[in-house]
Amino acid sequence: MAGVNAGDVRKVVVLGSTGSVGTQALEVVRNHRDRYEVVALAAGRNAELLEAQRVEFGVAVEYARTCAGDPDALAELAAHPDADVVLNAVVGFAGLPATIAALVNGKRLALANKESLIAGGPVVAAARALGAGEIVPVDSEHSALYQALRAGAPNEVRRLILTASGGPFRGYSREELALVTVADALKHPTWNMGAKITIDSSTLMNKGLEVIEAHELFGLDYDRVDVVVHPQSVIHGMVEFTDGATIAQLSMPDMRLPIGLALGAPARLDEAFGPIDWTSLSQLTFELPDVDAFPCLQLAYDAGRTGGSAPAVLSGANEVAVAAFLEGRIPWTAIAGVVADALAAGTGNVREVADVLEADRVARERATIAVDRLSEAA
Ligand code: MG
Repeated sequence: MAGVNAGDVRKVVVLGSTGSVGTQALEVVRNHRDRYEVVALAAGRNAELLEAQRVEFGVAVEYARTCAGDPDALAELAAHPDADVVLNAVVGFAGLPATIAALVNGKRLALANKESLIAGGPVVAAARALGAGEIVPVDSEHSALYQALRAGAPNEVRRLILTASGGPFRGYSREELALVTVADALKHPTWNMGAKITIDSSTLMNKGLEVIEAHELFGLDYDRVDVVVHPQSVIHGMVEFTDGATIAQLSMPDMRLPIGLALGAPARLDEAFGPIDWTSLSQLTFELPDVDAFPCLQLAYDAGRTGGSAPAVLSGANEVAVAAFLEGRIPWTAIAGVVADALAAGTGNVREVADVLEADRVARERATIAVDRLSEAA
């Protein structure tokens, strides 16, 4: 297996070490010092916590850095000569060069930075095709699929099913959605996450991005990646096989489970995170997503099918729209329109990182114009 020798102590690079996924990963490492050693750390801006982590895990000074706005420095750490596993938990697009560097240098990439895979799909696919590195997903849904896929051969897989909590506005009509506030949108029913991803969860854009992520990770056509709303967030993902059998992964929401698996796979941790208490769990329910009320999901499918720079445009424009919503400049219902406008203005091919950066720049420019127009009109 790429970058990993079973039985040895795995040397780990944690990019985004002071964020939610990063700190939980270090907690896993802290409890399993016999299995993991941290060799490099990168944080955005929290230099104080980074230094505390550096001292605790005995990381050399030159391999613990704040890398905000410096994607190349992240890539350099991802290529650390001793590293077996690179956890990429950088927020946003800046994680792309690190993703590529980890794969090209034959590392296992424990991927929590979904933007790099979504926006840079063709570039990441080319780096993967070199065959030296491998990706193990950290996102809970994709970790679930990764686990469920173990139940059959690749040619026995019929479709992948991603579950969505449905967010705080599940069941709302278009009229009700027109009135929701920032505070309403920030109340996520099951997961406690950052503001950007919480808003994405409320629009179902997060699920749309995860559909693209699943397509890139597992190579199935978009017709074979489905979304089911499952408000309890206990089933994280399912694989349907050719004989009709569906294998699901269940656990209570706790990111330490997928993080631990991504670091250790194929071995599981000997410590349980989020085991199900059957005395308190009474029901699991399912419904189909309402794509009319939540158009972002369909936009993501469309962008995924278009391919090339379309997912990068989708993701970049969405970031601008979500930021504008959080600033109170546009209503929640305008987020999808801003993204749709940016996509409708055209997309192109992606061959290298520069193409992805350009697509992202153009998307942000288009989305900013659309936001300015909307907020002037308001
Ligand atoms: Mg997820």
